[in-house]
Amino acid sequence: MQEAQKGHLHPMTHTIRHMVGIFRDLGFIIAEGPEIETEHYNFDALNVPKDHPARDLWDTFWLKPDASGERRLLRTHTSPVQIRYMEAHQPPIKIIAPGKVFRYEATDATHEVQFYQLEGLWVGRDVALSDLKGVLAHFFSKLFGKEIKTRFRPSYFPFVEPGVEVDMSCFKCGGEGCALCKASGWIEIMGAGMVHPNVLNNVGINSREWQGFAFGIGVDRVVMLKYGIEDVRLLYQGDLRVINQFSTM
Ligand SMILES: [Zn+2]
Repeated sequence: MQEAQKGHLHPMTHTIRHMVGIFRDLGFIIAEGPEIETEHYNFDALNVPKDHPARDLWDTFWLKPDASGERRLLRTHTSPVQIRYMEAHQPPIKIIAPGKVFRYEATDATHEVQFYQLEGLWVGRDVALSDLKGVLAHFFSKLFGKEIKTRFRPSYFPFVEPGVEVDMSCFKCGGEGCALCKASGWIEIMGAGMVHPNVLNNVGINSREWQGFAFGIGVDRVVMLKYGIEDVRLLYQGDLRVINQFSTM
């Protein structure tokens, strides 16, 4: 008789749990929010008002308005969880929010209409960009099991000021340069920045008294990098030939 096969975690689930565990050890707690959001939480409260050109950054699935007429959508990022949490809690705040997000776009090897993000938010009296750098260096080193450096490049996201694009040193070549990092030694991995004063003021937190950082990382991209998966769609097709390669994790 054939022995029954034991089940195992999907690489996405495994990676989300790993990431959450690392942040939990640093004192972050988990926050959650709805996948169907209102325009207010997904955009306006995050300093992206109607007709703001930055709205074009997110291709959005719009839903029919609810009974009150408020426009609804499938959340395009996990950032609305920041707003919901800050509305309900006073600082200091130290949360992560893993979850599904949605984009209205054509799928290809690097784009899916649905993927996972992990959001981080730390608001305190003197939380600085240097704290973000320390937290991320620790996070990536734990995640990839070796010492990883990070570097920040100036970038723009409406809900942070300043905004940064975060690169991590290549875990494969250690910064020497290889095919994975396109010979640069660095891999572009997430967006982050200091929470924009408008965002804090929108939830009733005094931005003269409190400050902090926020970041958002794509879990799919981490899984693809870590395990050398070249097509994101493979993560959602339930193909056992793919999934069973992760049965020993
Ligand atoms: Zn490399």
